[in-house]
Amino acid sequence: MSINAQQQIKCPKCGQLHEINVWHSITVSDSPDLKADLLAGKINIFRCDSCGAAALLPTPLLYHDEEQRLMISFTPCTDELTKRQLFDNIRASSKESGELDALDDYNLRFVTDYNALLEKLLIFDNGLHDKVTEVLKLMVLMQEPDKMEQRTAMFGKTDGDGLEFMVFDKKEEACYTSRVPYATYNTIKEELRRSGVKYRSFDWEIVDADYAARLLNGFNNRME
Ligand SMILES: [Zn+2]
Repeated sequence: MSINAQQQIKCPKCGQLHEINVWHSITVSDSPDLKADLLAGKINIFRCDSCGAAALLPTPLLYHDEEQRLMISFTPCTDELTKRQLFDNIRASSKESGELDALDDYNLRFVTDYNALLEKLLIFDNGLHDKVTEVLKLMVLMQEPDKMEQRTAMFGKTDGDGLEFMVFDKKEEACYTSRVPYATYNTIKEELRRSGVKYRSFDWEIVDADYAARLLNGFNNRME
């Protein structure tokens, strides 16, 4: 069920009061339009019509796509320690409520970054799996090891031949695209599967750059 509430928000910049719709939960089968709004960056983003200021609301959002067997718990947060605590809490409360039993063949994700949330929607919409794309992103960044610190990669799109990633360079203030053929995607997917990676969740998971780094380390250790 999609759940929302009207909330009065004061613009942090000009003080103007706004009545806005805050979403706490989105279930795609009930409200496909909301998914489109989310992908367009219209959900839980405050935009002031007086001064133009924009801000992400500090509201947690639960995204549920039954068809894709995908559930994403999103809580905006930039602090690593808080992130860890939030993640532990969601795991504990899910266990206690027994809801995991009903989500047996799901992918359950916990994210704290709005762009990461949208990226996951796109990845699964394109018939891809985020555990593979995270590893590919890391491999794309590793092509220039001396610039890894200043760069981040995001999934962009797919076309007939493969996947396109966007690479943002903070230092150079530039954005590049990097392509990965489907064959590479499939090879990595199979390698990960053989090394024990599950493409369905047994519990909530954080699948991000750190996750990919741990997987790649495991790979390297075995190859030695
Ligand atoms: Zn304003």
